[in-house]
Amino acid sequence: MLAAVAAEVRTCTRCPLHATRSQAVPGEGNLLSDVLLVGEGPGAREDATGRPFVGPAGQLLDELLRSIGWSRQDVFITNVVKCRPPANRDPEPDEVASCSPYLDRQESALDPVLIVTLGRHSLRRYLPDARISGAHGRLRRVGGRFIFPMYHPAAALRQASLREILFSDMRHLPAALLSARGALEEMGTEALIAHVESTQPASPAEVDEADQLTLF
Ligand code: URA
Repeated sequence: MLAAVAAEVRTCTRCPLHATRSQAVPGEGNLLSDVLLVGEGPGAREDATGRPFVGPAGQLLDELLRSIGWSRQDVFITNVVKCRPPANRDPEPDEVASCSPYLDRQESALDPVLIVTLGRHSLRRYLPDARISGAHGRLRRVGGRFIFPMYHPAAALRQASLREILFSDMRHLPAALLSARGALEEMGTEALIAHVESTQPASPAEVDEADQLTLF
């Protein structure tokens, strides 16, 4: 499934970004990971290599992951748009919309416990009205998914004060993952109990009564 998505992304012509890309960047990482990192879109180095977060922002992302004892092999990394916007401009809404089915399918295939949004474009996909300044570092439930918004590493390269915030939010990521796992398990147990209750007779006495009623 993920390989099929990647193959389609590499030859995609759904939006104008395909005309200026060198390579599309479908995403990469651990297919069994519980954590999906979603960035904004490829930059120059990603466009040249076909791999996500391998430029300066990627180096900071590696550092952030290392700070909690994780590495790229522990997560899956992708972007909201899979082709580089020229001159690293923001992706246009119609480009995001054209690319969105790919991310939908990646999410379905990976079924992550937690989605870490990197930057406001990624945050907007899940929480259109949220502001990153208020939402960062806090676990949110959106539909059936758990979201952990973070600033984009590139923002900390431009604005040094965000670096400390990024590292601080990263320190909370393992606990957020545990909370999301716990909540999903609880939701699963509740659904299972509801299912068992709805498919089992409530009590033997009621069964007898019901059976007797059907005799008349
Ligand atoms: N910035 C992103 O949002 N994604 C990348 O892959 C690289 C830089």
